[in-house]
Amino acid sequence: FYSLHLTQRRVRRQPGRPAAPARNVDKIGVVGAGLMGAQLGALLLQRLQVPLVVKDVDARALERARSTIEAALDKRVRSGRLRQAKAGFLKSVVTYSREDPPLAGCDVVVEAVREDLDLKQRVFATVERVVEPGCVLASNTSSLPVTAMASALAHPQRVVGFHVFNPVAVLPLVEVVRTDAVSDEALSTAFQLADALGKSAVACADSPGFVVNRLLTRLLLSCVEAANRGAGFAEVDDAVTVLGLPMGPFELLGLIGLPVVAEVVQVLHGAYPERFRLEPNVQMLADSGLPGVYDSARGRTPYDEVARRWRVDPQARKPTPEDIRRQALEALAREARIILDEAVVADARDIDTCMLLGAGWPFFMGGICKHLDQVGISRRLFGAPLVGATDQAFA
Ligand code: NAD
Repeated sequence: FYSLHLTQRRVRRQPGRPAAPARNVDKIGVVGAGLMGAQLGALLLQRLQVPLVVKDVDARALERARSTIEAALDKRVRSGRLRQAKAGFLKSVVTYSREDPPLAGCDVVVEAVREDLDLKQRVFATVERVVEPGCVLASNTSSLPVTAMASALAHPQRVVGFHVFNPVAVLPLVEVVRTDAVSDEALSTAFQLADALGKSAVACADSPGFVVNRLLTRLLLSCVEAANRGAGFAEVDDAVTVLGLPMGPFELLGLIGLPVVAEVVQVLHGAYPERFRLEPNVQMLADSGLPGVYDSARGRTPYDEVARRWRVDPQARKPTPEDIRRQALEALAREARIILDEAVVADARDIDTCMLLGAGWPFFMGGICKHLDQVGISRRLFGAPLVGATDQAFA
């Protein structure tokens, strides 16, 4: 009931959305048409039905984005949810470009270029030259400081974080990230855009990894530690997935991509070096060029290269499934506590909403904070539950 209340009622009221009116969106741009940009473009076009400009420096990326966007429309036609003529019209209002000038007149531009702060700063600086001062610039960064992306702009108040999750059409969460300078109009526009995309928005402070990636990375590193001490990858995944998670952390690595994970660990390590250690085994995975830990052709058997190069601590005692689970839950509890102490989100209900909607954690668990409270871990570690008495009031 608690998790349904959060996701069906509380988040729909968009706590954290300022009263200021949002900007009307009559034209929208996406810069960076890779994995995320193409999916975002497809959803924006279907939902907003306004002219869309897709910019990338790579002509092949633009062609792939066109295929993704048009295939998504064709699929809706086949399933009877969109008329053929309308699909044709929507395809005709998309401009694919390697230049910035077609972005002129956009009310919002979302960037989804590679996870690199310098690059994102340069992209916003060049976009700012062709759009109006009121155009909102949104970043789909997974972990980088959004305030820093805005700092060198003429109008830093227009920049907001807009973190959607992969696959974009499936996971309903957007972490809306407040920078130090963001205007109420830009923030309101991000909330309205989330709504228009049929997504639930949770307001977050501009803090490394925001909520979902920070907690998932903490969980992953706890699991890496178990594997460092001699537990097999599948054993670790099984120990954790009994909690009802959609997949184990090592399986998840294959979905996210090893280099992306290593980048997020780097960013979090920069901010919190004691809890987010730079694990040589994680770096080895990122450098391997492999798609994941498991060789999917052989089920959950790791690639030979991973099995050979993964360094196990010969002194360590191999953890039991119970040890692995307890340590993972304790790591999550400690991180959730710090996220709350740092006021990254308003309260524990927002953490629960984020993990339910952005990580696909099960509704029957009731939300991670609620679960940690119910099994007594929060009280044992902190002497009090994470979900406070007032938060329980279903306000
Ligand atoms: P990607 O590498 O698939 O795509 C990035 C695209 O940006 C490429 O097509 C590249 O050609 C283009 N690009 C590079 N420089 C450019 C420039 N100057 N102007 C225009 N385009 C340029 O990356 P991705 O996985 O789609 O990630 C994009 C962003 O989304 C990153 O910030 C990432 O952290 C974030 N994100 C990724 C995921 C995920 O699961 N991959 C999930 C959520 C958020």
